[in-house]
Amino acid sequence: MTRLSTAQKNIAYIGLGSNLDQPLSHIKQAAEALSQIPQTQLLALSPLYQSKAIGPGSQPDYINGAAALETSLPPLELLHQLQAIENKQGRKRGSVRWVARTLDLDLLLFNNITLETDELTIPHPRMTERNFVLFPLRDLAKHLSPALTLPDGRSIINLAQNCNDDGIYLANS
Ligand code: ATP
Ligand code: CA
Ligand code: CA
Repeated sequence: MTRLSTAQKNIAYIGLGSNLDQPLSHIKQAAEALSQIPQTQLLALSPLYQSKAIGPGSQPDYINGAAALETSLPPLELLHQLQAIENKQGRKRGSVRWVARTLDLDLLLFNNITLETDELTIPHPRMTERNFVLFPLRDLAKHLSPALTLPDGRSIINLAQNCNDDGIYLANS
């Protein structure tokens, strides 16, 4: 008898950001790298947005997007895959937070789980305050899953609607 694969299919949403060394090409390269993660398919990449950096000092504008993945990896393994892609694309890690970077990949949502460990918190703790996360995620939700919510039941489309749109616009990709 043929044994069917029972690997669990999870849906994960990833936030992508870059504001160094040709951000648009870093984001596109990262989307390609996401599609190469083992046991994982890239379902969709959102439109990309440009906005002012929120970090310290004067920094170039960010390009941000969101991606939907189907994966049978568990959350921590997926995070490690994301960090490997960041490293490959020249991400430097220092002690100062929110400095300019070639690539940032945040794990925003993973199925409907909540998780809080030293290394990984899901949903991403600051995602609901950030238009550059919510807007591309809303675009994906409209396309793939209009009822997408946080584990606490809040709708992504509603959160985006109630988020300010100051200084953020669609990037010319
Ligand atoms: P922010 O988290 O505010 O967006 P950042 O993306 O600049 O800031 P990083 O320096 O990329 O922060 O990550 C710091 C640490 O956050 C990582 O080492 C990772 O272990 C941890 N982390 C916790 N939860 C998540 C998550 N959901 N996605 C990505 N990293 C996470
Ligand atoms: Ca981030
Ligand atoms: Ca990050």
